[in-house]
Formats: sequence, structure tokens, C-alpha cells
Amino acid sequence: MILKIVKYPEPVLQQPGEPVAEFDAELRKFVADMFETMYASQGIGLAAQQVGVAKRITVIDLSLGKDPAQKLVLINPEIIEREGKQYEEEGCLSFPEIREKIPRAAKVRIRAQNEKGKWFEMDGEELLSRAFQHEIDHLDGVVFIFRMSALKRDLNLRKIRKMQREGTW
Ligand SMILES: [Zn+2]
Repeated sequence: MILKIVKYPEPVLQQPGEPVAEFDAELRKFVADMFETMYASQGIGLAAQQVGVAKRITVIDLSLGKDPAQKLVLINPEIIEREGKQYEEEGCLSFPEIREKIPRAAKVRIRAQNEKGKWFEMDGEELLSRAFQHEIDHLDGVVFIFRMSALKRDLNLRKIRKMQREGTW
């Protein structure tokens, strides 16, 4: 089932997610719906907040659904190591048409549970590292405009308000 993706400034986007405690059929159905929703929008990552649910669940697939081995489900994830710096462009399904460079760690190691509740660790570099940081930010209630410089943030907020007035947001 394709879920509705909420756009900024929907309040749930700035709500930190509740940890997941039940690894049941309902969770697996929700995760499957998140993948379906993300693929339908050509995204590489989607956080539960973006479909209106403040829980610590995110899905990532850098292959856009082409390679099943790249499907990642991160439940209750946290970043346990960060190394180096990168400054590359990011987009977000909750901010259509906004793309901006965001300062991030070059490499991160994350710890998360899979949809069965099993803990695992994983390293990410470059795009995967950015996806981990962007999505885990969502789970903390942090959207990427708040990682931009004040100048860029204001420019983008103005652009959003203009699109809202024109009914294109
Ligand atoms: Zn996002």
C-alpha cells in the first residue's frame, strides 16, 4: 500500500520517534508499505515521520529497487562512530524540488535492529553515509533545512512559502 508522504512544515516531521518495541506482523507490513511508498516516489530513503508516524523506523535502498541486496531496514538506529567530512547535495521527499549541500561525516558506523529485532552494525561511506545521517536525523525530528546555513535555510523557506502561495507545494 502506498502511504501519503507529508511535506514540511507538517509537525510530525519535527517530532522525535518513539523506539520500536514490538517486532510483529504489523511492523513488517508497515516496513513493506514504506518500501512501496519510497519506490513510487523514486527515493533512496524514507523515515516513518515522512508518512506521519513518529517511530524510529527507516528504510534505505540506494538501488531504487533494482537490487534486493541493497534493501535496508533500520529500526531504532543510532550512529556509533563518525569519521571525516563531506559536503554534498541532498534532497528529501518531504521537500520536493529543494536540493542543497549539507555538511556530513564522510563515514559512519551505525547500530540498528532489523525487522525481526536482531541488532547489527554497518558501515557507510559517501552516499550511504549521507543516507544514514539524513534518515537518522528524521527519526530524531531533524529535517535537513536545519542542517543548512542560516542564509540557505532562509532562501529555501522563502521558496517554500512562495510555492505554498501558488498552490504548488
Ligand atoms: Zn528526508
